[in-house]
Amino acid sequence: MEKADLVISGGGILGTALAYWISSLYEGKIVLVEMAEDVARHTSGRNTGVIHRPFYLHPEKRRTFARCANLSYHLWKEYASAENLPWKEIGTIEVATNDHQVEHIKKYMQWAVQNGMDASEVELLSGEQVKKLEPHVDCLGAIFAKTDTSVNYQIFTESLKKRAVSQGAQFKFGFKVQDVASKNGALVIRSVDGQEIETSFFINCSGGNAIDVAHMMNVGKEYTDLHFRGEYWEVSQAKSGLVSRNIYTVPKHPDIPFLDPHWIVRADGRREIGPNAVLIAGSQTYEGFANGLGEFLCKVFERPLGNKARLFTNADFLKLASEEWVSSISKKAMLARVQKFIPELKAEDLVKRGTAGIRSSVIDPKGNFIKEAIELEGEKSFHILNYNSPGATGSPAYTALLVSKLEKLGKFTHLKKRPIPVKGIWDFNKVINSL
Ligand SMILES: Cc1cc2nc3c(=O)[nH]c(=O)nc-3n(C[C@H](O)[C@H](O)[C@H](O)COP(=O)(O)OP(=O)(O)OC[C@H]3O[C@@H](n4cnc5c(N)ncnc54)[C@H](O)[C@@H]3O)c2cc1C
Repeated sequence: MEKADLVISGGGILGTALAYWISSLYEGKIVLVEMAEDVARHTSGRNTGVIHRPFYLHPEKRRTFARCANLSYHLWKEYASAENLPWKEIGTIEVATNDHQVEHIKKYMQWAVQNGMDASEVELLSGEQVKKLEPHVDCLGAIFAKTDTSVNYQIFTESLKKRAVSQGAQFKFGFKVQDVASKNGALVIRSVDGQEIETSFFINCSGGNAIDVAHMMNVGKEYTDLHFRGEYWEVSQAKSGLVSRNIYTVPKHPDIPFLDPHWIVRADGRREIGPNAVLIAGSQTYEGFANGLGEFLCKVFERPLGNKARLFTNADFLKLASEEWVSSISKKAMLARVQKFIPELKAEDLVKRGTAGIRSSVIDPKGNFIKEAIELEGEKSFHILNYNSPGATGSPAYTALLVSKLEKLGKFTHLKKRPIPVKGIWDFNKVINSL
């Protein structure tokens, strides 16, 4: 049987960045297993592609994500410049469309600085000032985050994979973890097609399936999750000049901030609107509600039943979920949500559907969505669940923090530390000291 010192499951941006840091600091056989044919084929390669500056993240309630996002902007900027990767610092205008939201963006101005942004990166704008910058945008006021940047996270992840491989990490594609068993004091990781790897330690970064992989090892049994497909529509070339920056809205439901579609400027210049958040049964269900009846039944009867049952007796949640489905089926309904701040956009300007991505949100036993990532320790294993937005932005700093935590917990004592870390674009100690 193949043996490894460490196995990471999941080649999204989280698992790949983790493999990058660990292989730069340690010798030994580090294997990343990924069920797809390459890295970032799921959420990490199907998102909005924005490096989010953390002005909108509560400095206490979302402290880790805010600090990681803030530092990682600088890390990605250095990385993109050294590797010559697309980097479009076009800025985001987050608009308020009612008086309550106008008050909210004033709070964002304080949060930006509290989260470590330079005060010059953000500006509070009146509706008239927004019109001067973006004549086709209607609002009562806005915060302008000048350094929000458009990138392509699939390209970033592929580039990190190359660096990890050059440092000795191995990537095994087409390996879907189906079962993890204990054997002679080690773990045996088995794939759907019968491949096996024995390892001393396992890290679960399986994105939309992270909770299922954790449950295989009796970890996080109190949690369950729901999957939401974020869909986009591409804007015609003729209308792409309508707005030149990202336009976001202050979330209508601060507890479920991923419900509001935006106007997005992609790193390659294309304009899209989206994403919505359509409730679906599976973490790779890119069309319809479920990939077959089996997936649907599995999701409905998946344990624990109580978490979802509590959410599904919440009338507000059901109303929101049905509205999101309407915006999936009807282009007009999706458009209407964006016309509230770009009224000139018309149905014929939305020429084709964009690439949808899926968000998997963990629900606690009280039926609440959890906001931050969840880190859980298991027997010879560590699990990261609920690694959601702005997870792609914060991944370099967040994974460095994870490595430092795992070192302190003594999880890497079986690995040989390199006398000098492999020289890369980022400096591990500098990152940890800045967090
Ligand atoms: C619609 C949408 C828009 C977003 N926009 C942004 C944005 O603009 N900016 C930002 O910072 N963040 C954004 N995010 C969030 C960000 O994309 C995620 O936080 C991040 O990509 C999560 O990375 P991950 O590696 O945890 O997950 P993933 O990218 O999903 O990677 C997990 C990997 O695990 C693999 N896997 C799953 N199960 C198994 C198994 N059993 N065995 C082996 N492999 C397995 C999968 O194939 C997958 O490749 C967005 C998210 C969504 C859904």
